[in-house]
Amino acid sequence: MSIPKRASIVVIGGGAIGASVAHHLAAGGTRDVVVVDRAEGPGRGSTGLATGGYRAQYGTAINVRLSLLAREKLMRFEEETGVDPGYEQAGYLWLAGSEAALETLRAGNRMQREEGLSDAAMVSREEIARINPAISLDGVIGGAFCPTDGFIKPLQILEGYRAAAERAGARFVWGAEVHGMERDPAGRVRGVATAAGRIKTDVVVNAAGAWARSVAAMAGVELPVLPLRRQVVPTVATAALPASMPMSIWAEDGFHLRVRDGRVLLLWPTPGDPNDPFATTVDAAWIEEVAGKAHARVPTLRGVPLDPDAAWAGLYEISPDKHAILGPASECPNFWLANGSSGHGVMHAPALGQLLAEMILGGDARTTTLDVHTLRPGRFAEGEPIVGPALL
Ligand SMILES: Cc1cc2nc3c(=O)[nH]c(=O)nc-3n(C[C@H](O)[C@H](O)[C@H](O)COP(=O)(O)OP(=O)(O)OC[C@H]3O[C@@H](n4cnc5c(N)ncnc54)[C@H](O)[C@@H]3O)c2cc1C
Repeated sequence: MSIPKRASIVVIGGGAIGASVAHHLAAGGTRDVVVVDRAEGPGRGSTGLATGGYRAQYGTAINVRLSLLAREKLMRFEEETGVDPGYEQAGYLWLAGSEAALETLRAGNRMQREEGLSDAAMVSREEIARINPAISLDGVIGGAFCPTDGFIKPLQILEGYRAAAERAGARFVWGAEVHGMERDPAGRVRGVATAAGRIKTDVVVNAAGAWARSVAAMAGVELPVLPLRRQVVPTVATAALPASMPMSIWAEDGFHLRVRDGRVLLLWPTPGDPNDPFATTVDAAWIEEVAGKAHARVPTLRGVPLDPDAAWAGLYEISPDKHAILGPASECPNFWLANGSSGHGVMHAPALGQLLAEMILGGDARTTTLDVHTLRPGRFAEGEPIVGPALL
C-alpha cells in the first residue's frame, strides 16, 4: 500500500498496543490515522510471540486498575470490534514456597481487593490441590488464586483492533520502517521518514514495543525501555493436563505453565543474552533446566517429552520500574508514548489504547476513565518511579 503524504496522527508500530491506540483514536473521530510498521504484516513483533496470559493479580494499584479496565473491555471486545478476544476465565494460581513470598501475595491480595478485584483470594495447600491437582505440593506453603484471571488470544486482539480501526478510516502501512523524524525549531515532530516514504503530521505515537527506545531517540527523546528475552518451550501434543488448567506460577522464581492448543507451554524468566539484548535464540541449557523444574513440580509431565524444535523466544519491553510509560514525552509534547509495559502489553492493550486516545483527543495529558498520572513519562526524572514488589 502506498503511504499517504499527510496524516493527522502517525502511530509507529502495529502490534497490539499500536492497533489499540489507532482503533480508539479512529473510533473517537480522528479521520486520518496512519499506522506504520516495518514488518510485512501484523503480529511479527512481540504480540505474535506472547503466550496469552491475562491477570489482574498485580502488586501495584495502577496495574490492577489497568487490568480491570482491560477486563471490562475484553468482555465487550467482540461487540466493539467484531472479533472474539479469546478471554477465558481459567484463573491464575500463584504458589509460594516461603513465608516472605506468601506475605507478598497476601499484601498484594489485600490491595487487589481494595481495588475491586473481589474474587482474588489467598488459598491453602488443600485448596491448591483442588484447583490444580497436577501440582506437587512439595515446598508449597500456600498461594493466591483469582478465577477471573486466565487467557486471551493476542493475535485476535490485534486483529480485532486493526480491523475496527481500518473500518473507522485508519490505515496500516506495512514494510514501512521508520528511520528518522523531522522536527521544527521548537523541537516538535512534524514528519516521519519511513522506508515507504515521508508523512507530514501533527502528532506521533511511539508504539514500537521492545524497539521503542531507538524510535524515541529519532524524536530527540530519551526513553528508558530495554529489550529482555523471554523463552518458551512447549511439550509435544498431550492430554496430560486439561485445557482448563489455570496458569500456575511459582512466585519465587517465576516458573509457570499453561496448556495451549493441546500442548503444555513452559516458561521461566532468566536474564537475556548479555552479548545481544535483542537476540531471540533459545538456549539448549535453558530448556534442560526448565524441563527439570517442570518434572519436579508437575510430576505428570515426567512422561511427556518436550518439543525443543517448537521452542521460541521473544522480547519484553522493560521500563525501569516495570510499568507502562504513557503520555506525552517531556522533551517533545506532540510525541506520545505507549511503551514499557514490561511483558504485560497484550493484556493491557485495551486499556492503554483507550487511555492514550483520551489524552490525545483531549489535547492534554488528562484522561477521563482512569487517572494514569503515575504512568507519566517524566516520573523517572522526577525521582518518582512506581514502587511495587518484584514478584507480582
Ligand atoms: C514469550 C513472551 C510471552 C509473553 N506473554 C505475555 C502474556 O501472557 N500476556 C501479555 O499481556 N503479554 C505477554 N508478553 C508481552 C507482550 O508480547 C508485549 O508486552 C506486547 O506484545 C507489546 O505490544 P506492542 O504492540 O507494544 O509491541 P509489538 O507487538 O512488538 O509491536 C511493536 C511493533 O513495532 C514495530 N517496529 C519496531 N521498530 C519499528 C520502526 N523503527 N519502524 C516501524 N515499525 C517498527 C515492530 O515491527 C512491531 O510490529 C509476552 C512476550 C513474550 C516475548
